[in-house]
Amino acid sequence: MTAYKDLMAVERATQALAQVAGRLGWDQETMMPCGAADQRAEETGALAAVLHTRRCDPRRGDLLAAAEVGGPDEVARAQLRHIRRDFDRATRVPEDLAVALARLTSRAQGQWAAARAADDPAAFAPVLAEVVRLKREEAAALARGGDLYEALLDDYEPGMTVARLDAMFAEMRPRLVALRARALAADWPTLDAHFDEQAQLRLARELARRFGYDFARGRIDMAVHPFSSGSGDDVRITTRVNESDPFNCLYSTIHETGHACYEQGIEPAYRLTPLGQGVSMGVHESQSRIYENQLGRGRAFCGWLYGRMREAFGDFGIAGEETFYRAVNRVHRGHIRTEADEVQYNLHIMLRYDLERALIAGDLVTGDLEAAWNDRFAADFGYPVDRASNGALQDVHWSVGLFGYFPTYSLGNVYAGCLYRAMQGAVQGLEGQLAQGDLSGATAWLRDGVQCHGGLYEPGEVIARACGQAAGAEPLLVYLEEKFGALMP
Ligand code: ZN
Repeated sequence: MTAYKDLMAVERATQALAQVAGRLGWDQETMMPCGAADQRAEETGALAAVLHTRRCDPRRGDLLAAAEVGGPDEVARAQLRHIRRDFDRATRVPEDLAVALARLTSRAQGQWAAARAADDPAAFAPVLAEVVRLKREEAAALARGGDLYEALLDDYEPGMTVARLDAMFAEMRPRLVALRARALAADWPTLDAHFDEQAQLRLARELARRFGYDFARGRIDMAVHPFSSGSGDDVRITTRVNESDPFNCLYSTIHETGHACYEQGIEPAYRLTPLGQGVSMGVHESQSRIYENQLGRGRAFCGWLYGRMREAFGDFGIAGEETFYRAVNRVHRGHIRTEADEVQYNLHIMLRYDLERALIAGDLVTGDLEAAWNDRFAADFGYPVDRASNGALQDVHWSVGLFGYFPTYSLGNVYAGCLYRAMQGAVQGLEGQLAQGDLSGATAWLRDGVQCHGGLYEPGEVIARACGQAAGAEPLLVYLEEKFGALMP
């Protein structure tokens, strides 16, 4: 028991330092003066080195081994499971490889940004080849003879396997391609008005509050790319404003509010421990997606939002709730994943998943990536990629070494589909509440079923417990086919 207590004291200090590092990152995206970039890089690097040393510290391994023989209770067992996974991953990767990867990805990110600006995939291919080579080395060190890609995936979605992802995507792809073809053939209303920046921000704050965001333990600032950061009692989100497209600000705020409510909803006793944060990227994304899509883009809530937007912006040229609901859910040709509608979003992910698996397996070389991307895009989306910045160069992930991350976006959508089906059966009067802009029943159900547990259960288990059955793609597919089928008379 002493070993466990001593270990947890070390972990709390490490978690606190990690929160500080995260807050530096938040500051860099929101507040930092532009002249501070070099100094900030040094500050961040120093903190990262401290964190790495603490993660790999042999004394941590000794305390962990001693604590593991103590017959711990459920919470302690879960804490130890997280610490064991983290310690093994940190110590399996040789120090010089970790340093080389950090240096290379920092350089590769700059080269990616330049190549994207110049629409020049050939300028990025050589450095990406280096990233892939080092990621394969890292994966080999982690996998110990197992599947390389799966070893990388495990960083973001512990316990998920390639076999299960393959089966899930095989079920989704033909049905989504068919739905996409129908949806693109339909007519969709668009907004054509000016939406005042301050009025958008006031409404965004109101939406965050209605979806359960606690401003006493959070704040909203502006950033180029919306994100949420932090855990426990300091969870911050950012948003952005486009005065001709209010849905950008409003729905990205709802999305980030979902991430933030997950962190704010975790059992307070877990604060600054390994259990005190969202358990995986997929479960995290399930919370942001169900807030944004199933709830926020649902018919009932859109009816309320239409009235609220008329109050905030006056007549913006959309006549009636039904037209507004169709404008919110408009399906259109687009190349950019982050701007994709619900129908096409997962097709973007499957494309990236198959290509990054081929890169890590050594079956695809980076010089052939653009052609492979464009072929696949045309097949699944039915229209061609017009330029590389709208194709293989659009996402930052590969340049910074995030291989195995993309499928967690689709897992989030699949989990959200399962959770929404279960929520509809569990929350009495849900539709009536949503039609009043009242999210309290929905968000309380998510907090009690998913969010409060933090890292207590494995990702698949927390979803299965909340839904009463194992997660699968069927509820999401039925939801999409029914929703968009009704939107395309
Ligand atoms: Zn997200």
